[in-house]
Amino acid sequence: MSQFDVTVIGSGPGGYVAAIRCAQLGLKTAIIEKYPTMGGTCLNVGCIPSKALLDSSEHFENAKHNFANHGILINEPTADLARMIARKDEVVEQTTKGIQFLMDKNKITVFEGVGSFESSTQVKVTKNDGTSEVLDSKYIIIATGSKPSSLPFITLDKERVITSTEALKLKEIPKHLVVIGGGVIGLELGSVYKRLGSEVTVVEFMDKIIPTMDGALSKELNKVLKKQGMKFMLSTAVQAVERNGDSVKVTAKDKKGEEVVVEGDYVLVSVGRKPYTDGLSIEKAGVDLDERGRVKTNEHLQTNVANIYAIGDVVAGAMLAHKASEEGVLVAEQLAGQKPHINYNLIPGVVYTWPEVAAVGKTEEQLKAEGVAIKVGNFPMRALGRSRASGDVDGFIKIIADEKTDEVLGVHMIGARAADMIAAAVTAMEFRASAEDIARMSHAHPTFAEAIKEAALDATGKIALHM
Ligand code: FAD
Repeated sequence: MSQFDVTVIGSGPGGYVAAIRCAQLGLKTAIIEKYPTMGGTCLNVGCIPSKALLDSSEHFENAKHNFANHGILINEPTADLARMIARKDEVVEQTTKGIQFLMDKNKITVFEGVGSFESSTQVKVTKNDGTSEVLDSKYIIIATGSKPSSLPFITLDKERVITSTEALKLKEIPKHLVVIGGGVIGLELGSVYKRLGSEVTVVEFMDKIIPTMDGALSKELNKVLKKQGMKFMLSTAVQAVERNGDSVKVTAKDKKGEEVVVEGDYVLVSVGRKPYTDGLSIEKAGVDLDERGRVKTNEHLQTNVANIYAIGDVVAGAMLAHKASEEGVLVAEQLAGQKPHINYNLIPGVVYTWPEVAAVGKTEEQLKAEGVAIKVGNFPMRALGRSRASGDVDGFIKIIADEKTDEVLGVHMIGARAADMIAAAVTAMEFRASAEDIARMSHAHPTFAEAIKEAALDATGKIALHM
């Protein structure tokens, strides 16, 4: 029987990062992945392929609608979806191969097969050919991730009634894509097909899209996406989804309780994701799950069985790749005797629509509910020279600071390159900067990031310079 210090089950951004950090710290490490490619949801059917298609569709949109304004005259471009998907596959292949390289470089033993507990220290790997072997391990890290969830009355046929996984490999551009769920994944994939020419209707149960983000972001994104032609049915509860040949009918109740019907040729069900522990035989290790099927852990990400830890989408918290990776590092360092820490309040969230949306810290709604006295600074992107030069004038940056101490408590942005700019806010908040600290730092001109300085000036004392 093979012996390891640590066995990681699942090779997503939680699992593979945990394995690398364990190996760096001198622990003999194994990783088990049931699919032939490493990298989990994020690299295979999540973050990376969705961004590849978002980028391709954005180039198409620019060629179609924005080039002429920049003085670039081309014939009417057409979208070659098959090529876009093939390019996306190439990007995924390069990225997943990169993980295999990192496993080899760090001398991590990779097992391809389904990992299942035999006991609290033994994991069986069942390979595709039916053979199996048992690994003996001092510590085990569960990093089995999540799967798309659905609604009980929806049959996902994966042809016309699809999840994000199928939306990343469609054979044709939908005429009318109905998206159930106005969260991050629905809006990103909805944007891809809207740009490629589909009619897109988003049906959302709540009264706003991206409902967990600051209300101001949700309002602005709704406005901008509507301007781009996306349709929204908010406060609308889907009751049934029926497929009839090549068409799909979604029946819902609007906020007045009246029946509404939307017909399309594809329905993307993006109502969230659920933790995945199928096939793990977790009961054989005696590990407890919570009421939502997540692996229960304490603040050290340790389960009720002392030598077994769990990280990423399969435990509580934001279902984000970088959160999973931070947790992987935390567990590895703990196993090596260190005392690491994660500041969950400062895990940024991003939506890769255009303009991008990004946030860190608390929302205005949260701070008001907690009774914290705050001051808010805002700065519109259109007031920046950089925005006018590129033509990306939508959006704003909002900085919320403590009224008395001026400490920055939340940064919420919608605008060009917000996904990259949010890192500046994370850094500032990690060092507990005040709004005035940011306001006094030099920001290169002309950049989109100048809006951070200006919003900080506005928060400090309503002294933004260009507004
Ligand atoms: P996963 O990535 O889900 O990996 C789990 C792995 O475990 C899988 O490879 C699975 O096959 C394997 N596994 C499960 N059970 C077993 C078993 N018994 N034996 C062996 N292997 C097993 N997050 C972001 O931060 N940014 C984004 O832009 C972003 N975009 C996304 C877009 C889409 C369309 C989707 C679906 C998700 C996106 N996410 C994004 C979320 C992100 O993908 C997840 O948060 C992240 O992948 C979670 O990592 P993980 O390691 O916990 O699990």
